[in-house]
Amino acid sequence: MSTQLSTNVEKMLNSLEKTVQLASQYGSEDLHNVNVFTSMAKTICELELRNQKVMKALDACKDQNTVADFERVYETTLNSGSGREKKSSKYSEFENTAKQLLASTSARRSQPGTIQDGDVIFENFVSDVDPITKKVMVHPVKNKKCGHYYEKSSILEVISINRQLRCPVAGCANKNPIIPANLVEDPAFAKLLKERQSTQEDSD
Ligand SMILES: [Zn+2]
Repeated sequence: MSTQLSTNVEKMLNSLEKTVQLASQYGSEDLHNVNVFTSMAKTICELELRNQKVMKALDACKDQNTVADFERVYETTLNSGSGREKKSSKYSEFENTAKQLLASTSARRSQPGTIQDGDVIFENFVSDVDPITKKVMVHPVKNKKCGHYYEKSSILEVISINRQLRCPVAGCANKNPIIPANLVEDPAFAKLLKERQSTQEDSD
């Protein structure tokens, strides 16, 4: 029984570690707090330690001849270690791994827009919203110069009115006026928008 519990504890810690890994890559900011996961791991590991103590206490009193002796030896053995609780080595191992996983993510996140492995890492995921109308885009076009997206009809309309218009996305480094030749269709992004919208409708 004790061995089976240990196996299950290891399985639980392994799957919890995978969750930390996913949280570090895709999770929101509140999932980057290591305590969320270590508190779960602690509960699991404490359960195992408690079980080990009970098994040890039962083993110690199995040769007693009276109920009174049995209870006395059981209680003494069970409480012998209290006060200086041994920290589970599995827990310490988990805590270290989780801290490392989450620390490497916050280091990456603190440098938005840096180039890694040849890809530009954007700080936030690409917005669905047209920066001009603030509505969800249906027919997005991409500005080749800076990579920002606009709703095709709205951007064409505003640049026909203002030929000096710069990219309206806040903080954009591109200071050149937008010209129609730099606006390109992006079927892959249009498809992604469609999928995001349909999953949002499903969950409503
Ligand atoms: Zn831009």
